[in-house]
Amino acid sequence: MKNSCYCGSGFSFSDCCEPFLKKSKNAPTAEKLMRSRYSAYVTPEADYLLATTHVSTRKYHSKSDVLEWSKSNNWLRLEILDASENSVEFKAYFLDNSLQTNIHHEKSAFKFEDERWFYVDGEFF
Ligand SMILES: [Zn+2]
Repeated sequence: MKNSCYCGSGFSFSDCCEPFLKKSKNAPTAEKLMRSRYSAYVTPEADYLLATTHVSTRKYHSKSDVLEWSKSNNWLRLEILDASENSVEFKAYFLDNSLQTNIHHEKSAFKFEDERWFYVDGEFF
């Protein structure tokens, strides 16, 4: 039996986020990119997270910080609250270092450029 994808889509990882993380396919929608970025935090794939951040905001993210944040938390699940063509509101549930459950609640903005979706920035709640 195949494992279901980290992003909670119900599909197997190999039929969902893995092809995007392996760069064999580009995520076709902002929501799928967002889901794959969540899976990238779980696995973790810091290079993918930076590569899918839009060039205008990439300078605010460092690979070491991204990797640290990915690894220091135990990612539990992703909940998509709302998605439009170029924005996704979600909650990511995780356990922090002291094993407290935390929720990262964000509305992310995405931009389609050069045939690919990019994460631009987020509004945090
Ligand atoms: Zn997935």
